[in-house]
Parts: sequence; structure tokens; C-alpha cells
Amino acid sequence: MQTIGVIGAGTMGSGIAQVAACAGYQVILSDIQKEFVDRGLANIRKSLERLSAKGKIKDSVDTVMDRLTPITGLDGIKGADLVFEVIIENMEKKKDLYREIDRICRAEVVFCSNTSGLSITEMASATKRSDRVIGTHFFNPVPVMELVEIIRGHDTSDETYLIAQNLCESFGKKTITVNEAPLFAVNRILVPMINEAIFVLQEGVASKEDIDLGMKLGANHPIGPLALADMIGLDVLLMVMETLCNETGDPKYRPATLLRKLVRAGHYGRKTGRGFYEY
Ligand code: NAD
Repeated sequence: MQTIGVIGAGTMGSGIAQVAACAGYQVILSDIQKEFVDRGLANIRKSLERLSAKGKIKDSVDTVMDRLTPITGLDGIKGADLVFEVIIENMEKKKDLYREIDRICRAEVVFCSNTSGLSITEMASATKRSDRVIGTHFFNPVPVMELVEIIRGHDTSDETYLIAQNLCESFGKKTITVNEAPLFAVNRILVPMINEAIFVLQEGVASKEDIDLGMKLGANHPIGPLALADMIGLDVLLMVMETLCNETGDPKYRPATLLRKLVRAGHYGRKTGRGFYEY
């Protein structure tokens, strides 16, 4: 494995491209428009400069940057030995992309999706290599967060699993194995916990400050659940809770009404300057 393709140069794609290049791989980074790839590259350089100043990368910033080849469109992806799909979270868009890369990439090339919770099995169904499609769920920010959840779709082969696991470990990540299920494992536990904190607030059980302080000091969490909700984005959280509720049909996953109300008011958290807290 020498050349890694990364499709989507946004928050997560640029992070994955960065850790792959730091590990010594040649990386082809693709997006739909040149300005998006350029922005991804600029973000990678900034992040590398910060890490380099702290002595956290072994090669120089320029050496790592030289391993990255920016492209637009998909033609240049045909030289990749493995492809990370890191485009927006939309099943139809992802399936269109899989159809296309299935046509242009060599038959043995493995496709890894960074989806936060969509079905790997359904994406794989758009290809003629469903045994070679797998989920590799990195966490944000990719260069900092150590975990990758490796998600097996219905047809994913053992060989594909090992290829994905070895590759992520060669980036310096730790992996856990997850069978496909809505939201996988970590977010399946984390997101309903945050939703429960919102219920605790809306029922007047405790104030927002006390809920956050309580979870920091009582459960040793580095950040309180409501402050974390503001960081993730309340619109994203609501969408994720709705997916979990719809996919499972289980009312225990219903979103708190206060979450809906804040989203309807346009208070999405940090990104709009107001959520549970003001910024
Ligand atoms: P983003 O919006 O920052 O980046 C997505 C990029 O994909 C954009 O630059 C967009 O132009 C590009 N793109 C869209 N369609 C494309 C196509 N057909 N070909 C090439 N590029 C295309 O999104 P993100 O936050 O990086 O998320 C990407 C994926 O990672 C999603 O599936 C998301 O659910 C998942 N994810 C996100 C996070 C997070 O915290 N942001 C965490 C884990 C997983």
C-alpha cells in the first residue's frame, strides 16, 4: 500500500489526508472544486505547523506536504491503492460516488467510508465489490483523536477488515471493531447521554451549569454534556437523534423537546454564537 486516495477535503478528509501523509503514504486529495481542495491543503499546513512547533511530527512540514497531490474530480483517484470516502453525509450522494469509483478503481482496491452513521451495507450495494467496502470512522479533530471505529458491513470480508485495521494503526490510531448498527458504538452511547442531559435541564432537575459541572467532576468527563452539545452543533445532534429514533423505532431515543425548540430558534451552539450558552 503506497498511495491513498481521499475523496472530500473538508474537516475530516483533510484530517485523514494529513495523518496518512505524516505516516509516509502518498496521498491524492480530491474535492469537487479547486477552492475546496486548496482550503483543505491550507488547513493541513496550519495543523502541521502547530504540531511541528511542538515536536509532534517526525518529518518537516514541507516533506509531509510534498506527499499530498491535490486534484479535482475523480480521474486521478484511479492510481490509488485504497480510497477513503469522506464526502458529505448523504446516502444518495455517497452511492453515486461509490458507483463512479467502482468503475474507475482497480478491482482489489478497498473503499473506506468515514460516515458518522449511514449504512455501510447500503453504500457497498452500489458497487460490485461489497466485500471490499468498510467503515473507518475517525473522530474530530483527526490528528488529535486516537480512535477509529472499524465498521463491518454485511458483506465485508475478513481480509478487508485487516487491511483497514492495519492501515489505521499505521497512522498511529487505535481501533475498535463494530458491527453495523445505527450510530455504531461510541456515538450510540454518547449522543443519547447528551440528549438525557437536555431532558434533565428541561425538567428543571438541575441548572445547565450544575449538569456540566456534575458530569465533569462526578463522571470525570473533560467537558460537560451541554457544552459538548454546543460544540457539536444542536442541529447536527437533533438530526442524529432523529436518525437513531427512526432507524430503531425505539422511543427511548426521542429527541428532547428543548433540543427541538433551540434548533427551531436558530440557536445551534458555538457556530451561531448561542446554544445552551452564549459565545
Ligand atoms: P465537510 O462538509 O467539512 O466536508 C465534505 C467535503 O466533501 C466538502 O469539501 C465537499 O465539497 C466534498 N464533497 C462533497 N461531495 C463530493 C464528491 N462527490 N466528490 C468529492 N468531494 C465531495 O464534512 P466533514 O465534516 O468532513 O464530514 C465528512 C464525512 O465525515 C461525513 O460522512 C460525516 O458524517 C463524517 N464525520 C464527520 C465528523 C465531524 O465531526 N465533522 C466526525 C466523524 C465523521
